[in-house]
Amino acid sequence: MKNDCLFCAIAGGEIPSNKVYEDELCYAFYDIAPQAPTHFLVIPKAHIASVAEVNGGNSAVVAHIFEVIARLCREKGLESYRVVSNIGEQAGQSVHHLHFHVLSGRDMTWPPG
Ligand code: C5P
Repeated sequence: MKNDCLFCAIAGGEIPSNKVYEDELCYAFYDIAPQAPTHFLVIPKAHIASVAEVNGGNSAVVAHIFEVIARLCREKGLESYRVVSNIGEQAGQSVHHLHFHVLSGRDMTWPPG
């Protein structure tokens, strides 16, 4: 856990969130500013700043998160959805704790803006 990290505090229950799912490795919660009818975030409990910091020593949690995303979407009956992770300010990253956005329930365009 990193001091002053918003998502470490959310995963630790110190800051309230609308929880979707939790296990020993990851935490999922609805985004406070949803960009689609369904929009939740899945984060590792351990602090990783972004995809750019994923390496051989911590990548198992990323595979786990993708398993969780697939299971949650199956359980919610979501057949079409988008999984996004922004890395760096130009790409739109505003919280520097690895997170995967899961968006569903509306038509989406490509390329993203
Ligand atoms: O990709 P980015 O870093 O911008 O995503 C951060 C996301 O975290 C935003 O979609 C924002 O709405 C969400 N957020 C949240 N709860 C907070 C602060 C930010 O769901 N307390």
